[in-house]
Amino acid sequence: MNNRPSKLTLSANAGLHQDHHYKGIANPIFVSSAYDYEEVDETLYPRYFNTPNQQAVARQLALLEHAEDGVLFSSGMAAISTCIFCMLRKGDHAVIQSDLYGGTYEALVSEFERFEIDSTFVDGADAENFEKAIRPNTKLVYIETPSNPTLKITDIRTVAGICKKHGIVSMIDNTFASPINQNPITLGIDIVTHSGTKYLGGHSDLCCGAALASETLCARIRHSALHFGGSLNGISCYLLERSLKTLALRVRQQNANAMTLAEHLSAHDAILRVYYPGLKDHPGHTVAAAQMPGGFGGMLSFEVRGDAASFIEKLCLIRRAISLGGVESTICIPSKTSHIKMSAEERHKIGVTDQLVRLSVGIEDPDDLIRDIDQALNLTSK
Ligand SMILES: *Cc1c(COP(=O)(O)O)cnc(C)c1O
Repeated sequence: MNNRPSKLTLSANAGLHQDHHYKGIANPIFVSSAYDYEEVDETLYPRYFNTPNQQAVARQLALLEHAEDGVLFSSGMAAISTCIFCMLRKGDHAVIQSDLYGGTYEALVSEFERFEIDSTFVDGADAENFEKAIRPNTKLVYIETPSNPTLKITDIRTVAGICKKHGIVSMIDNTFASPINQNPITLGIDIVTHSGTKYLGGHSDLCCGAALASETLCARIRHSALHFGGSLNGISCYLLERSLKTLALRVRQQNANAMTLAEHLSAHDAILRVYYPGLKDHPGHTVAAAQMPGGFGGMLSFEVRGDAASFIEKLCLIRRAISLGGVESTICIPSKTSHIKMSAEERHKIGVTDQLVRLSVGIEDPDDLIRDIDQALNLTSK
């Protein structure tokens, strides 16, 4: 492990070099959807997940995640749904963390019912909850850490160990942490997924996803994926490859900015509470420090004392948006966006109060972000 290149180097590297003909530094974009079947060993086709651009980026992401292999998808949900449905069949049972990205939660609840797959949702703050929920027909454990929007931490190594002991596939959504901060495969997890739309793309202009795992599991995933069809086109692969070159740089700046903002907000008397795993008083701080060696990420949330909508309206630099992970800072009110379908009572139980705002910290100068937040807090109606 010691002579493995650093994340900065792995990011900058253009992955598998493809320009054998002209020897250009950048990889050419292969847009063909039809290939000569006589001249090649394997029939290339975008939906077979085997074109040169798909392979180059999947290889680079696999390196960044310490995985043997990877599969690229046309969205994060394509990656998540394909992996989940290729691991489960009718009558199986899955144990799932209750704090989840809203889209994943809704997809699982509605599709599982139709396919007669049983599930138990458990609080991820205590890893033992996963073991308690295991039944003889449990085939999958699914976690997400840090979670959305209150940045709860699940102990990855403990959950992975429980799964190994019981012969169950473990899967994690690693979108919030990014491969720069957290590598769940090194902690024993089987399948890592990403919404590449967020940190991997990083410029708020690309929708894609990825799954990283062993060669054996990736072969299984690819087998179902070519039926489900969520492949990524050559031009989007190129955009993702271009974005990955600055991934480590971007995430490092986002980590540092988020830490600075979390500390500033913690000491601010117009703020009721700050959720950031980098803060010493965060209940998951010790576990986060151990499993996120690269940093605590660029996502944080906090409760304002006054009216959250009024606060957000007064911001000049930080923009309102639901997505996250871009170079520009964006903010939203989860009770009005991602968690709008939950009842107020259910929301409050998981900490999503009306005063909670979620901030995706960009790569701007932190002093400018602080100035923007402070002037908006001064103008916020009480
Ligand atoms: C956005 C997101 C997804 C879904 O990804 P898409 O690219 O929108 O399909 C899944 N998980 C998390 C944590 C996300 O933030």
